[in-house]
Amino acid sequence: MIGQTQKPIEEILEYLKDNEKIVVVGCGGCATVFHTGGEQEVKEMAEKLSKAGKKVLAGIAPPFGEFTCYAPWSKSRLNQYRKEIEESDAILMLSCGDGVQVVRELILEEEFNITKPIYPGTNPIGHMGGGPTLFKEKCQQCGECELGKFAGICPLTQCAKGLLNGPCGGTNNGKCEVDPERDCAWVKIYERLKALDMLEKMNEIVEPKDWSKMTRPRQIEVAPLELK
Ligand code: SF4
Ligand code: SF4
Repeated sequence: MIGQTQKPIEEILEYLKDNEKIVVVGCGGCATVFHTGGEQEVKEMAEKLSKAGKKVLAGIAPPFGEFTCYAPWSKSRLNQYRKEIEESDAILMLSCGDGVQVVRELILEEEFNITKPIYPGTNPIGHMGGGPTLFKEKCQQCGECELGKFAGICPLTQCAKGLLNGPCGGTNNGKCEVDPERDCAWVKIYERLKALDMLEKMNEIVEPKDWSKMTRPRQIEVAPLELK
């Protein structure tokens, strides 16, 4: 999931200072889980904007499970509000940056053929897993997963220095020297390899990461899902 926090209302109002008629769009995916753009947050944002003198033409809150970054869903949902979107001065997106840009490019520009300001209402902080309340960053989508070499623990992400060939000299009682509150990733890898009776893997030299796999922007093509 894309971890995210909501932007302060002051920042949002600064974005919208020249716009009166606003459409607020949330997301039934990560933004609902992180309480930045679910049904409740879209309603609350609409109220805050109204109090600040804006005219909210629509507050669109897709149900849980309907991801705004997935264009087929966004198209079908936003088409129901096409009139309000066309009449608005700006769109406020309570979703991650993927959602903002999918709606801008694939819905507003390509589907509706309109050019209109669109603003982010959240600060995405990366891909993370967990829940229901605590989420942690585990993977940075490096493009070539090497978890098989590290007992299923990603040192690129879990180690503060991203070390791939064992710990630095600063590990102390199982904790990381960069942040003593955090476990040293390499101690965890060692303990798990030991439990798996695979400690010999600690002696294998891991080649430098092929960062060309992270050249951005990346893209991928897949067969379409059949939506029910
Ligand atoms: S190696 Fe780490 S960063 Fe790369 S894909 Fe696997 S878990 Fe993600
Ligand atoms: S103490 Fe462990 S987790 Fe921290 S930087 Fe060194 S090897 Fe990485």
